[in-house]
Amino acid sequence: MNYDPKIIERGKLYYRNNLVKYCIKYKNFLFGEVVGSDTYKVKVDLDNNYFGLCTCQYKYNCKHAYALIEAYENNNYVDAEEIFKEIEDKPKEEILKILKNLVVKYYLWDEFLNTDSLLNKAIGLIKLIPLERKNIYTFKSFLRNQFVKNADDEELIKVIDEMIRADLDFNNSDIIEALTIILDEIFRRENKEAIKKLINLYRKHKKELWIVGDYLIEYYDNYFDYED
Ligand SMILES: [Zn+2]
Repeated sequence: MNYDPKIIERGKLYYRNNLVKYCIKYKNFLFGEVVGSDTYKVKVDLDNNYFGLCTCQYKYNCKHAYALIEAYENNNYVDAEEIFKEIEDKPKEEILKILKNLVVKYYLWDEFLNTDSLLNKAIGLIKLIPLERKNIYTFKSFLRNQFVKNADDEELIKVIDEMIRADLDFNNSDIIEALTIILDEIFRRENKEAIKKLINLYRKHKKELWIVGDYLIEYYDNYFDYED
């Protein structure tokens, strides 16, 4: 466990002072909320050295994460399976009511939007770019505001493929910017399969996708840093 002794001490104090609102174990993670100067959301990975992510300014392995670990080690947690089992046993109408209330309360609408139609919309917008200059701006804001956060890995790659097919000018700064919005997301996710597919596409279209080379250099640099 990679926690500073001072952090451990404070985390224990937080736990003893009942500042852990709840601690849930789901699969190999702990989820919880811990009260500090704000209420922070915390997630601890039990399989990865109790690595803790937190919404506080320290971001990881902080006193809030340790407070959650302390709750867990004192057997002061709820198994998520029990919560889900309780839901499972309810009649369908009641489950639907719970679901609808959650969607409304937490703005989870985009979980239910058809991302396939998002892909079609992206392809439609790409085809408009060569026809009229300003369409690139519509495309960029569509990528930023809707597409990258809802698309799966496959769809991100597909859009790049479509941009090549549409014969766009990959030396134009707006086209490059659109491409980097997608590339940023692919490399942020760090899905090896997706990156492999991107590399294959890059090998075939080095002239258009020259900027991918820069991303790959940085990616492999980071990758080898992690290995150290
Ligand atoms: Zn924290």
